[in-house]
Amino acid sequence: MTPTTLEFPGRLAAVEERISHAVEKSGRQRADITLVAVSKKFSASALRSAYEAGLRYFGENYVQEFALKRPELEDLAGAGYHLIGHLQSNKARLAVSLFQTIHTVDSAKLLQKLDAAAVEAGKPLDALIEVKLSGEETKAGAPETDIPAILEAAALCAKVRVTGLMTMPPWSTDGEGARPYFQRLAVLARQYRLSQLSMGMSNDFEVAIEEGATLIRVGTALFGPRPKPV
Ligand SMILES: *Cc1c(COP(=O)(O)O)cnc(C)c1O
Repeated sequence: MTPTTLEFPGRLAAVEERISHAVEKSGRQRADITLVAVSKKFSASALRSAYEAGLRYFGENYVQEFALKRPELEDLAGAGYHLIGHLQSNKARLAVSLFQTIHTVDSAKLLQKLDAAAVEAGKPLDALIEVKLSGEETKAGAPETDIPAILEAAALCAKVRVTGLMTMPPWSTDGEGARPYFQRLAVLARQYRLSQLSMGMSNDFEVAIEEGATLIRVGTALFGPRPKPV
């Protein structure tokens, strides 16, 4: 476990070391993996410190929470923002105005809403399909049998490009429990010729990298425990 007493640069160094180790073990390149710093529940200033330490990609779960932080981040040149939490279609327009990549498309209908909003905004958008691979009732995402219909809708999009798949496996302490889910997502991505795989969080990103992750979503290992909701 990463000690939570370290300041941000120390935590980032620890995460980079874990990434290097997994990259080496799997014969991949560091450049093939994008570290998305999950800044949900942290302030704009925490995000700014991460940017100053060299991070460029940030993951947020809640559209409205990020809408409040975004004005404070105008000067962070080259920063990219990813929505990794569930998106309700009535927030598609706001999401398009705030994010460059949406990891959580779970229906053709949501994709169509996003494309309409992206056309209206004159802005390209990358999207990933969130796939629900476990039987857990609480887990979001489309069943894998919905992928073809979502890709058919994607072929008709003017501004949205579906680049990959995302999943959230059931929680496991050491990450090994997540491996079969990561393997399944990689098989599906190959089957549908999608290049991006968004998988792996603080406790299991090494396993995700070994199984082909291109986007890892890391919160706690970078920022420490999230502040308790008030
Ligand atoms: C919060 C969250 C993360 C980051 O989780 P950590 O365990 O803090 O690294 C990654 N992905 C999603 C979808 C999340 O909601």
